[in-house]
Amino acid sequence: MSERSIRSTTHRLAIIDAALRMEKIGLNKGTAGNISVRWNDGFLVTPSGMPPQRLRPEDIVFVDMEGDPQGTRRPSSEWRFHRDIYAGRPEVEAVVHGHPPFCVALAVLHKSIPPYHYMVAKAGGRDIRCAPYASFGTQALSDHAMAALDDRKACLLANHGMIATGRTLDGAIALAIEVEELAEGYWRALQLGEPFLLSDEEMSSMVTRFAAYGENAQTGDQPAPAGHDKSGDRA
Ligand code: 13P
Ligand code: ZN
Repeated sequence: MSERSIRSTTHRLAIIDAALRMEKIGLNKGTAGNISVRWNDGFLVTPSGMPPQRLRPEDIVFVDMEGDPQGTRRPSSEWRFHRDIYAGRPEVEAVVHGHPPFCVALAVLHKSIPPYHYMVAKAGGRDIRCAPYASFGTQALSDHAMAALDDRKACLLANHGMIATGRTLDGAIALAIEVEELAEGYWRALQLGEPFLLSDEEMSSMVTRFAAYGENAQTGDQPAPAGHDKSGDRA
């Protein structure tokens, strides 16, 4: 087996492991959600409608930037927003989409997550926007998601769920966990009253602080790690 196809298998196994983890921690259930990593001149993405427990490396689909799939399965119905994120956001190496319950609770009310907690800045700005509703799998949904992700690493999707991006797959999942935590915190606060919001100035300062905080210094806001070779075949 060539060095490159071994690396592809590593990515495929990492995607399956991520899908299993997302289910275990309650970010997804059943066939909800999808995961991709940038690969060569396209990306590797979970197949449509398969529960994570059934996934084998060969089930992961390669999709090029024109949207042409290569593999035995159909790619996730959401391949368009995965493709558009990789096309529009060169710093992103992984995308995770889920239907976590507190994100969904806010998204069905078309509520963005405002700067009620400084950790909101982890998603890249003063808020985590909620993209307007469009049917799953459509270009309209991708267009709305891209607008909501402008200058942000995550967004909610109205009446649907959330998207988190990262410079690594682990980073994207860590952010997805954080966004769900923030959605839960905001939901709890709303039961009690009107949350106080932090100023734009404070949130800008938090965004700057997070760029150099903890693992972000290596994985969150730095170029992709050395050895992340995207040249070669698509195997
Ligand atoms: P897929 O199984 O096609 O990835 O769809 C799941 C989903 O969450 C659609 O938004
Ligand atoms: Zn979905």
